[in-house]
Amino acid sequence: MKQTQQVGDNIFSIDVKDRGEGFTSAYLIKGKKLALIDCGPTSSADVLLAGLQELGIDPLDIDYLIATHIHLDHAGGAGYLAQKLPKLKVLVHENGAKHLVDPSRLKAGASKYWGEAFSVFGELVPVLDHRVQALQDGAEIDLGGGRCLKVIDTVGHSPHHHVFYDSDTRGLFSGDALGLYFPRLSAFLDDDIIIPGAPHPVKLEMMLASMQKMALLNIDNIYFSHFGSKKHGQAIIERMLGQFSVWSEIIMKVSKAGQPLETAIEQINSYVFRSMFNQGYNLAEHPELSFDKQRVDQTLMNSVKGFWYYLNQL
Ligand SMILES: [Zn+2]
Repeated sequence: MKQTQQVGDNIFSIDVKDRGEGFTSAYLIKGKKLALIDCGPTSSADVLLAGLQELGIDPLDIDYLIATHIHLDHAGGAGYLAQKLPKLKVLVHENGAKHLVDPSRLKAGASKYWGEAFSVFGELVPVLDHRVQALQDGAEIDLGGGRCLKVIDTVGHSPHHHVFYDSDTRGLFSGDALGLYFPRLSAFLDDDIIIPGAPHPVKLEMMLASMQKMALLNIDNIYFSHFGSKKHGQAIIERMLGQFSVWSEIIMKVSKAGQPLETAIEQINSYVFRSMFNQGYNLAEHPELSFDKQRVDQTLMNSVKGFWYYLNQL
């Protein structure tokens, strides 16, 4: 699979090979200014730089790194890249900016969440204060030549989440606000596998409000951080809204029956893969998809936990 791909008008996806291929995308927008949307963790930074070179871009010319949020798989590499690329400015949610300058809380939170697996993301390098620009809801990021990205506050997945809307191409860089899309598995099953990105401590009601806000935009393409781009943005948002409702129903039923979290995880898994079971697919016979299935299972488990703790107010 090629590492980079054109996915829109002067928009390119770069697979940063975070925890394997085909899971985390950064995006390059080639306006008069050169902007990256997300960069992946520090452990992916050199892969990202190689991707830029594949696109014929000198990384030293990059003007902006625009972070959807500060989770390590999105902006963990910001400090390392800012050190290497002297021109780079890091644009990030006003609630996240100070945690890039002093990553101690970010590091503590991430190591608690990920446990030993935390080390796969690499070292967290602080970003110098004057290299960080805090973004607010409604701001416009001017990429030159008339191209602007609109900043839209979409907290809920985390308290520092933005999506970025490119009105010229009706494209939305969705970070984790519209779930995680698994294109290879979706193509194989002929069914979109998009899993809510709801790690504990997610704020489900805020996430829903953010999705409703995005549904009112005029969106053709969604550029997922995990993974790749997809057309029919409006249908995807409506599908995510529906999934939130069904997941909540399943999880509350399990909880009210006094059954454990594990039962909720099993039931959501059967719900998500219902069409696969109905059609008689056995993924064990398709080792080429085992990476994607593992990633789905992991994401689903983490998100069901987020729903469970939120809905039970734990
Ligand atoms: Zn995230």
